[in-house]
Amino acid sequence: MTETKAEYVTRTTSKPKDVRCPDCQQIFGTVVANGAQLVTPTLIISHVRGACSNCGFELSWYSTDRYIERIQLRANGRKP
Ligand SMILES: [Zn+2]
Repeated sequence: MTETKAEYVTRTTSKPKDVRCPDCQQIFGTVVANGAQLVTPTLIISHVRGACSNCGFELSWYSTDRYIERIQLRANGRKP
């Protein structure tokens, strides 16, 4: 089975940490690369604005597009 990019990023980046809703503690995803990006089981996220599906807490998340581009290139096996 082929590893997804999200799995690659989680596996190859040090110190992953769960991001939880501050109100209800539901897990949104995992932060990797010293907080530079948010990873879910299927997405590597650079910008998100949404609400917790459980309690409605508003979440805003921003990262630099350049960092995401480098991760994508690495995951594709090319040099940045
Ligand atoms: Zn919540």
